Amino acid sequence: MVNSKIRQLMNYITFSDIPIWQKIVIFAGGGVAWFIIIAFIGLGAIVFVNDSSRKLTDEVVPHIQASQKLVIKIRGANVSVHNIIIHDEVETVNGNSQRAKALLGNVTETIKALLDGGIIRDYSDLNGELIEEIKVSSINDGVSVEYLKDVLRTGNNLKALLEDVTSLKLLGIGKGGLSPEEKTLFMKKLGEYDALTVQAVTVISKLTSTISDEQKEHTERINTVLKQSMIIFIALGVLAISLLILFSYFLKTSMTRPLKAITDQIKGLSEGEVDLTKQITVGSKDEIADLSTNFNMLMQTIHDMNTFKKIIEEDDSLEDVHIRLAKVFYESLMLDDFTLYETSDRKKSLELVHTPYSREELCCNKEILIDSNLCRAKKTGHRVSSITYPEICKQFLLGPEKFHICIPMIVGGRIGGVAQFQFDKFSGKEHERPTPILNPACIERQVSKAEQYIKESSAVIEAKRLTSALKESSIRDAMTGLYNRRFLEEYVETLIAGTTRSGGQLGLLMCDLDFFKEVNDKHGHDIGDAVLKETASVIAKSARAADLVIRFGGEEFVVIVKEEKTGDAEAAAERIRKKISETKVKTSGGIIKKTISIGWSQFPRDTQNFWEAIKYADIALYKAKESGRNRVLKFEKEMWTTEAY
Ligand code: GH3
Ligand code: MG
Ligand code: MG
Repeated sequence: MVNSKIRQLMNYITFSDIPIWQKIVIFAGGGVAWFIIIAFIGLGAIVFVNDSSRKLTDEVVPHIQASQKLVIKIRGANVSVHNIIIHDEVETVNGNSQRAKALLGNVTETIKALLDGGIIRDYSDLNGELIEEIKVSSINDGVSVEYLKDVLRTGNNLKALLEDVTSLKLLGIGKGGLSPEEKTLFMKKLGEYDALTVQAVTVISKLTSTISDEQKEHTERINTVLKQSMIIFIALGVLAISLLILFSYFLKTSMTRPLKAITDQIKGLSEGEVDLTKQITVGSKDEIADLSTNFNMLMQTIHDMNTFKKIIEEDDSLEDVHIRLAKVFYESLMLDDFTLYETSDRKKSLELVHTPYSREELCCNKEILIDSNLCRAKKTGHRVSSITYPEICKQFLLGPEKFHICIPMIVGGRIGGVAQFQFDKFSGKEHERPTPILNPACIERQVSKAEQYIKESSAVIEAKRLTSALKESSIRDAMTGLYNRRFLEEYVETLIAGTTRSGGQLGLLMCDLDFFKEVNDKHGHDIGDAVLKETASVIAKSARAADLVIRFGGEEFVVIVKEEKTGDAEAAAERIRKKISETKVKTSGGIIKKTISIGWSQFPRDTQNFWEAIKYADIALYKAKESGRNRVLKFEKEMWTTEAY
């Protein structure tokens, strides 16, 4: 169970058990899936790198720029404070004080922008023009925020110290010098200012270094992602290519292997060394498997056909061939309802062919047996199908219940017979709507096969018919159609054996027309022939089916009567004599009436030797002639002794 499931799965994976279109769809689908996976990974990497570098340029770089600006501003303010010290003009002192104140104000604004996010505007401290605008995002990192707040506080302290230094300086200028205490205070404030400046710059350096670390981190992350993407790309690429190669191989093998098997078989066939019974086994369930199944079926059909032909060639008689053909229809082709007809050349009639497989009774009008041209298939030489054309043939009597397909059997260029196949039209109970049960395509296929078998047997049937016709002609008298003496000579052994076995008696009737020579002399030979033909016909009709009528010589006929009871032979002889005497033969020379004399003997009662019994009948005939003609005489032992023959 599990094994079969695994095998099923394997067959599916290796493309064995699926139609070709599915193989291609799955293969293409697999390729597209891989493409999508790789594309997604690539896209993810690009989005990540793009996002990280945007963060770098939009956030980290402006932060560094801003922190650098802070250092410049603080240092600038420090320079202005030192200018206040060295200059003694009120104007210069005030100017530098204003500048330092503005710079420190800038520092406060910049720090606020860094804390809350916003735009930092950098103005020239010489002419107040806007130099540049930097858009910054707010810094969220806790350490950096602490640094910024520290610098903000320091900036405020610097502003206060700047106020003190400026007012002390202006005080000194106003009174022409500071007192020693004031001087000490001034120097102290100045020292504090410088110390705070250094402290602020140091904190800003720390801030810058923290931001740089962040920058480094971002860059590293980008590098890591790029490196990882590369590895995944390569791994997936290798995997995808390997799978592509593997499945290409499966795909190729699943198609080429069965095709090669079929090609080999066809090649073998063309080279004439093929074993027709060898079947191609294809390990897949796709269109190629269908192809090979059909190919196997074709091979099987050819093989069956060949075997069939060989067998019927070796069959003895036409009957055997007919039976063989009927058996194939019935057993191999599942055509179980059919009738076979044979044409009779001489009589232009159809005869029912009897086989154990075919119908014994007619499905058609009886008249087709008398006039074969009433049969449409016989007349046209074409297939006649009531499935294709309903009610195509008027002679078919089972039209309401059955369809029929009639196939003419072409033998030696002529219609040698007809195979008629019948199919039930409807199934279902009475009163219900009838449902057709036949599948026309299936019927068509089977009938076509049957037609093929008929074609294959045509030559053999022709040969068998020819042989039997030849044989027939050699044992029959051409003029009267009766058996001839040769037939009797050939048949006599069978006849004797049968009679001896059954213990029966045969009456041997030797019949001879009276004064027949006169007819020839008076009316000529042709009219003599006509009288002979009529005589033969009358004798044949007077005899029973089991009796044998033989033209023994010129105007002599032998009738062999199987005596079922005593007196049968004599009665037959008397019947013949009477019929002949009543027969008027109409000829161009007028009506001719003749009589006949019959001598008869019994085999084996009179003698165990058949030919001797014939001789006895002849003797009795002679006696009949002698004693007045137109009479029937039984052979008696005395007849033999009285005269010397
Ligand atoms: P009977 O038997 O009564 O003694 O007299 P018959 O005239 O019939 O004498 P016989 O049997 O001897 O003559 C037979 C004649 O039949 C001789 C022959 O010319 C004629 N005959 C034999 N075969 C044929 C045939 O095939 N056609 C015709 N027209 N005549 C035939
Ligand atoms: Mg004679
Ligand atoms: Mg005669």
